[in-house]
Amino acid sequence: MITKQLNDYRNTSYKVYDYTLGKKKLDFMDDFKSIHPRAWNIYSYVNKNGEGFNIKFRNLYHDKCVYCGISTQVINSSNFEVDHFIPKTVLDLKLEYDKKDIHGIDNLVNSCKMCNRGKKDFLCDSEELENLHPDNNKLPFIFYRNKDLSIEVSSDYNRDTVKDFYTKLKLDNQLRRLDYLLMEMKDFCDRYEGAPIINEIHRLILKIESKRRKNY
Ligand SMILES: [Zn+2]
Repeated sequence: MITKQLNDYRNTSYKVYDYTLGKKKLDFMDDFKSIHPRAWNIYSYVNKNGEGFNIKFRNLYHDKCVYCGISTQVINSSNFEVDHFIPKTVLDLKLEYDKKDIHGIDNLVNSCKMCNRGKKDFLCDSEELENLHPDNNKLPFIFYRNKDLSIEVSSDYNRDTVKDFYTKLKLDNQLRRLDYLLMEMKDFCDRYEGAPIINEIHRLILKIESKRRKNY
C-alpha cells in the first residue's frame, strides 16, 4: 500500500514536526509527579510563563501553536498561552465534567493568543471534540494550507461545527498567510545560511519579523 506523506499545514517546507503526543505527555507527567506528587491542577503549574514546567510543556509542542502553527520564530513566547481544549467554563455550567480532567494534562495544549482568545468557550459534541483535539492529530486532515498560504477546511470536514471552530480561531485571518511566509523564509535562510546573499536577505527578513512581533 502506498501512503501519501501528509502535508501538515502547521509545518513549513523545511521543517517537519511530529505532533503526535500520547507517550510524550505520559513522560511529562512522570517528571511532573516526581516533583509534585499530590498536584491535580496541572494547569496552575504549566501556565506559569517561563518557568520550568511551562517551558517543558511548550517543548512538547515544539514551541508552536498547535492550532495555527505559528512559532517563536515570529512571535514572542509571551504570546503563547496554555489552552484548555474543553473550556474551563464547563465547570460553571454543571455539565458532566470533572475539574481534574479539565485542568489535567490531556486537556491542555499550547496555543497562541490569537487562537486561544478566538476559540474561547468553543464546545460541541464529544465525537467532534475527539476529531478537533490537537493531540489526536487529526487537525492536518481537517485543515490544509492552500497555495496562497491561507488555511482552509478540507472538503471531507466541511460541516457547520468544523467551520464554526475554524472561524472562531480566526484561521481565516489574512495575517496567518504572512506569519507562515515569514516562518517559511526564516527556515529557508537557516537551510541555506552562509552564502553572502542569503545573509543579506536574512537581515531584511528579520526587519519584517520584528515589525510583526511588535504588532502581534
Ligand atoms: Zn495559533
